[in-house]
Amino acid sequence: MAKNKKSNDPMSKLVALCKRRGIVFQSSEIYGGVGSTYDYGPYGVTIKNNIERLWWDEMTLKHENIVGLDSAVILHPKVWDASGHLKNFSDPMVDCKECKGRFRADQINGTGYGGGSDSGAGYSDGTGYGGGSGSGAGYGDGTGYGGGSEDVNVCPKCGSKNSFTEVREFNLMFDTTMGPVADDTVKTFLRPETCQGIFLDWKIVQESARLKIPFGIAQTGKAFRNEITTGNFIFRTREFTQMEMQYFVKPGETSELINYWKEQRWNFYLSLGINEEDLRWHEHPKDKLAHYAKEAWDIEYKFPFGWGELEGVHDRGDFDLKAHQESSGKDMTYFDDQTRERFHPQIVETSAGLNRAMLAVLADAYREDEQAGEQRIYLALAPHIAPVKAAIFPLVKKGGLPDIAHAIYTDLRKHFPVFYDFQGSIGKRYRRMDEIGTPYGITVDFQTLEDGTVTVRWRDTLQQERIHKDKVGEFLRDRLG
Ligand code: ATP
Repeated sequence: MAKNKKSNDPMSKLVALCKRRGIVFQSSEIYGGVGSTYDYGPYGVTIKNNIERLWWDEMTLKHENIVGLDSAVILHPKVWDASGHLKNFSDPMVDCKECKGRFRADQINGTGYGGGSDSGAGYSDGTGYGGGSGSGAGYGDGTGYGGGSEDVNVCPKCGSKNSFTEVREFNLMFDTTMGPVADDTVKTFLRPETCQGIFLDWKIVQESARLKIPFGIAQTGKAFRNEITTGNFIFRTREFTQMEMQYFVKPGETSELINYWKEQRWNFYLSLGINEEDLRWHEHPKDKLAHYAKEAWDIEYKFPFGWGELEGVHDRGDFDLKAHQESSGKDMTYFDDQTRERFHPQIVETSAGLNRAMLAVLADAYREDEQAGEQRIYLALAPHIAPVKAAIFPLVKKGGLPDIAHAIYTDLRKHFPVFYDFQGSIGKRYRRMDEIGTPYGITVDFQTLEDGTVTVRWRDTLQQERIHKDKVGEFLRDRLG
């Protein structure tokens, strides 16, 4: 089906739709919002859970050698020293002396950090998408900043030339204190990535689940980063959910498995219904790899504000296991009882952001068309992602139609998330459901009284067909699985 997206500021329209339908909206709004944090309403949390469940099943059901874990958010403070995060998990930051705007130096030309990323990854003025008090400067066009020559920098907020302070490294970890007395001895951190818990626990998991190499450990959960610049709605926030899987492999087998996981992860985004043309691979240049990585690939999506990372597939080598062995004094090797060899497993990591996946799904599904002279907005969500699978309507509130419709609803809701609505004109009721991506509308009308049939309307094509009311469950089951 041809896409029907309007080009004028599609992000603002998507954000407005998300707010209007209670999908995603600014957190703490009655207090004016707080730096790029968002809440997910009833439909939003269902869409998010659907994606998370698909990821979980993809990992743990599809692969017999991958098991799940739920490790703590607050780990021993030494973890972050050993992992290199205390020293290296920072972004270069500059301040504009004129307007006091604060930016990531690596996204601005002329600061000596290359700059001008095309990822569109993150400037918000806090007054645009969702309101509130996000930091940064109100840009996000995915075009990079500054342009021009490498020795002239231009503030993207106020346009001043060469107004930046020296570049400083800013550590992105949120620190916190544990226990009732806030002193240095109990200072710790909120995890900036979920995978460290997997590295700490891998031996107990491997032994208790009796796993043989290669095997994987999957985990989803919140991660926290005190990003210098947040923005582009839920693309870059300070609190987000990661879906990470660490695959433990024999030395020498990494490159084959990187290729395997790259293919698997690409296909996952297709399974969410995302248009393949809006996806691409980006390989990290070897001289710009994160401190733990030997090789790194990102899957990027073409967001309305530019290309942005959805997920990384990384070769972490044995960096993490060796670092924790050295720091904790505990053995982090694997014994292969077939070959009688002992070694540090190599790690292939797939590290995805749930909120970004959801933003890509929503952006990809956003459509506008015209029906009977009126603009219609709808989300062409894949049925397995849609928060409501079918809406059941009586055409009018009389003639016994509501009773029949409600009985169909009561029966269906034992099996599917469905919605019953009798308020307002039938057109308005369809529109409300179109906007949250409900694939099927089922209407009970006067013909139902005569022959027991109802109309089923498909959201995208608006095609209608009549089926018997007793067959609606079967109809949905065939289409939704
Ligand atoms: P970026 O380059 O965009 O800062 P990253 O390379 O630091 O991302 P990773 O450390 O590889 O990201 O984290 C894995 C995934 O977690 C990312 O691909 C992304 O989907 C998600 N993620 C990372 N930071 C954020 C954030 N601030 N807000 C939302 N999701 C995030």
